[in-house]
Amino acid sequence: MELVSPTTCPHGLPPRTCQICRVLEPSAAPAGRPGRRPSTRRGGLGGNLAVLAIVAVVGFVVVGWVAAAFFAVLRIVELLAVAAVAGWVGFKLGVQKGKRRR
Ligand SMILES: [Zn+2]
Repeated sequence: MELVSPTTCPHGLPPRTCQICRVLEPSAAPAGRPGRRPSTRRGGLGGNLAVLAIVAVVGFVVVGWVAAAFFAVLRIVELLAVAAVAGWVGFKLGVQKGKRRR
């Protein structure tokens, strides 16, 4: 069994100069190296995509609700309009009949 001192990585190299450790574990790399930027960028991009997907789904659902409510209101308004027109026509016919009778 090889003797691994704390200052060398499992690859037998100093952690600061070992490229294998940097590639495999960027977060575990020694400080002083800007290895966080790519990971944070990827994480941010993934987070943005996830947020975008959630917003898209929620927006789709909300749009569906709004459309359903709009059509429901439209239907009620249509029924009211038809009832009003029918009532108005009936009232008009009744008035004309009444005028003709008298
Ligand atoms: Zn290493």
